[in-house]
Amino acid sequence: MSKTRFNALSAFASRPKLNVELPSEKISDFFATAVFGDKQMREYLPSDAYKKLAACIRDGKKVDRDIADQVATAMKAWAMKQGATHYTHWFQPLTGTTAEKHDSFFMPKGGGGVEEFSAESLAQQEPDASSFPSGGIRATFEARGYTAWDATSPAFIMTVGNGKTLCIPTIFISYTGETLDFKVPLLKSIQALDHAATEVARYFDRDVKHVSTTLGWEQEYFLVDSAMYYARPDLVMSGRTLLGRRSPKGQQLEDHYFGAIPERVYAYMRDFEIECLKLGIPVRTRHNEVAPSQFECAPMFEEANLAVDHNSLLMDVMDRVSSKHKLKVLFHEKPFAGINGSGKHNNWSMGTDTGINLLSPGKTPRTNLQFLTFFINTIAAVNRHEEVLRASVATHGNEHRLGANEAPPAIISIFAGSYLKEVLEMIEKRVDEDKFDEQDNITLRLDIHNRIPDIMLDNTDRNRTSPFAFTGNKFEFRAVGSSANCALPMTVLNTMVAEQLMLFKAEVDEYIKGGDYKDVAILKVLRKTIKDAKRILFEGDNYSDDWAKEAKKRGLSNNKSAPVALDAFVSDKSIKLFESMGIYSHRELEARYEIALENYVKAIQIESRALSEIITNQIVPACIEYQNKLITNIRGLKEVGIDAKLYDTQVNLLKQLSEGIDKMLKIDKQMLDLRIKANEMSSARKQAAVYSDKVKPMMDEIREIADNLEGIVDDDLWPLPKYREMLFSK
Ligand code: ADP
Ligand code: MG
Repeated sequence: MSKTRFNALSAFASRPKLNVELPSEKISDFFATAVFGDKQMREYLPSDAYKKLAACIRDGKKVDRDIADQVATAMKAWAMKQGATHYTHWFQPLTGTTAEKHDSFFMPKGGGGVEEFSAESLAQQEPDASSFPSGGIRATFEARGYTAWDATSPAFIMTVGNGKTLCIPTIFISYTGETLDFKVPLLKSIQALDHAATEVARYFDRDVKHVSTTLGWEQEYFLVDSAMYYARPDLVMSGRTLLGRRSPKGQQLEDHYFGAIPERVYAYMRDFEIECLKLGIPVRTRHNEVAPSQFECAPMFEEANLAVDHNSLLMDVMDRVSSKHKLKVLFHEKPFAGINGSGKHNNWSMGTDTGINLLSPGKTPRTNLQFLTFFINTIAAVNRHEEVLRASVATHGNEHRLGANEAPPAIISIFAGSYLKEVLEMIEKRVDEDKFDEQDNITLRLDIHNRIPDIMLDNTDRNRTSPFAFTGNKFEFRAVGSSANCALPMTVLNTMVAEQLMLFKAEVDEYIKGGDYKDVAILKVLRKTIKDAKRILFEGDNYSDDWAKEAKKRGLSNNKSAPVALDAFVSDKSIKLFESMGIYSHRELEARYEIALENYVKAIQIESRALSEIITNQIVPACIEYQNKLITNIRGLKEVGIDAKLYDTQVNLLKQLSEGIDKMLKIDKQMLDLRIKANEMSSARKQAAVYSDKVKPMMDEIREIADNLEGIVDDDLWPLPKYREMLFSK
């Protein structure tokens, strides 16, 4: 057997079992012990400083210099007690991963030295920004950027091996003030939504002072044995298999979903969950997913900024812990063809500081009117900006899901449940019929409060094909890719909902000024809003061809390729949206669009080159070896005088091999020429078009040939671990 593949399989077969022990009997004993959270702040800060810091965090205000000094001292004392020797600003640049630059607390002085950590080191660092994507905002000669402390996300201690580092969540901006990360726009959008939603929530409760965004993500992933991973250059280079014949058994038996978790995987899950729990990530749910070797991890939802940090952190931790278990975790949206890809459902809602979930139907007519207000305005926002919401999840990896007849489709629509649809229709009609003259009777007469509890029972997430589903007390955005940073889709969603709520408020206030009762005014505007937004509601099968046709009639976008979808970022409509809401300047939007296109081009360029190497250096040589075996055999048969009819199938095999090799190498040459041509182009958008429309189809053609050859060639000669081996070896 081919040496690399054989070695990988035997390494897998001799894996020892890893024993994972809980640090303590109860999770509550060690939850968030690696976090400089409220409890630690109380313990390590003077009470006056603690109160001031807590107030800054609560109200999102700037932390004063003298407080920062005290926080730095407290943080250092706490971190050193935990065994930390270094600190780093931890941030999320537009590369899509997290970044760190470690500095030691130790400062040499005289012959010895001291451990230092000042307010300056806490508040600001200057990483060399030239190596991070900036979309042309920052020419390399003025490559200065700085990171600044985000006090709303607590510092934590990251343990790698025996090394411990204090990590301080920060934002990342250029010296000219443009944002270079995912966090700043997210924070701005959270604030915009806070302002807009609070104003509207105060129609119903004057005590509301803040509305926060809540996010509960569900992280899907694949696991493969690390020896097999390293024997697959495509997985190592691009995170997905660029070729590989489908395994006879895939997910057709539906025997994996919610099945018993394999022992080795279970040990891994417990291990990374323990790390996460220490870091304060409230992971709660674990289960098998639909495809073989696919799993999911989900936490209790949190405030969105914290939830985003926790998701990034989780992915780091999962990756690190997987090496320890000789496994490799794959976050790519489509690591294997022919079985399900991976997503990251974003469960999203808004909650008031009085403890009310604004997307949860209430028990009284008034709270139900409040629910309908936020529910309908969210629908309206998604309707108006569906195209840029689609753009927010457009990447090379997610293209294999959204653009490729997978769950969910590239068309954004909302599943609101059938009963809810009835209520919406009822409002639409009844507001016309009735003359409302008594404030208190309005909602009662609409029957809204009586119907909604039943509606909610019905609304238990029945439609798994919807990209944006209402699931009882939150919306679930399912089009987000498994490898994505949730910040971008959340930023876009928050911004569009904030804008919609402002428009809504302005209209309602007009009616009130005109003499309408408040509830009448609200219902009038809601009715109009539903009418305008109705086309986005869809309850049927999102994968059907009929829906694609119907959606087209309704004027909804269906941008299958990532480059086309990304164009929506720089449309007049979205520039206006983001500028007016103060989230991205025009320049920042252009820069981010450019970075997204560059990331797309680079990813497919790497895939294409990797495929080329695998074909030339591994697949073709294996095929030639088998060809020679056949040639020797056919010659021998002929020599001893066997009837030619008895080996014409072998001659046929030989022909198939020769044709396959020839075709693959020819397409590979064409693909190389195209890459050269594309790389000479100066526009990233044009390059992306070549990679999307021309290079990708060639890769598919090569794959088809290679996968057919895999079905012919002697198993002993095949160099790459096969699908059945990667997916079913546990
Ligand atoms: P499932 O979707 O698997 O049926 P749930 O409906 O209980 O499970 O929740 C899925 C996710 O939604 C969880 O991560 C949970 O924390 C999150 N979630 C629940 N309520 C909210 C909310 N108000 N805001 C944001 N996320 C929420
Ligand atoms: Mg879900």
